[in-house]
Amino acid sequence: MPQEKPGDEEEWRKKLTPEQYRILREKGTERAFTGQYWNTHEPGVYRCAACGNALFDSEDKFDSGTGWPSFCQPAAPGSVATEEDASHGMRRTEVICPQCGSHLGHVFDDGPAPTGKRFCINSGALKLEKK
Ligand code: FE
Repeated sequence: MPQEKPGDEEEWRKKLTPEQYRILREKGTERAFTGQYWNTHEPGVYRCAACGNALFDSEDKFDSGTGWPSFCQPAAPGSVATEEDASHGMRRTEVICPQCGSHLGHVFDDGPAPTGKRFCINSGALKLEKK
């Protein structure tokens, strides 16, 4: 076996908590109603917990009743990226940080008007920068 070079994942492991690492780097999902931000209403910008990229604005957060932070749109058009996800026997659209490639959550088409989108995001993927 060649000596393993310390790569990005090793850096993420050092930087993130085990729960953040599981969500962001291993596409994990936190249990509903257990995360830090599902019931948060404070104004601010939600940033990627891994790289700090601005992802969502508190103005677009709504109470979805799901137990996960939910947003009707990203902070700006390019703030998040999406990818088709066929894991766990479902067809879903994964939401990814375009800056560091970390997993954030999924987006569904059952959100409120006018966007009709529900970005269902793990608290563990977010860091709220309060205004
Ligand atoms: Fe990021």
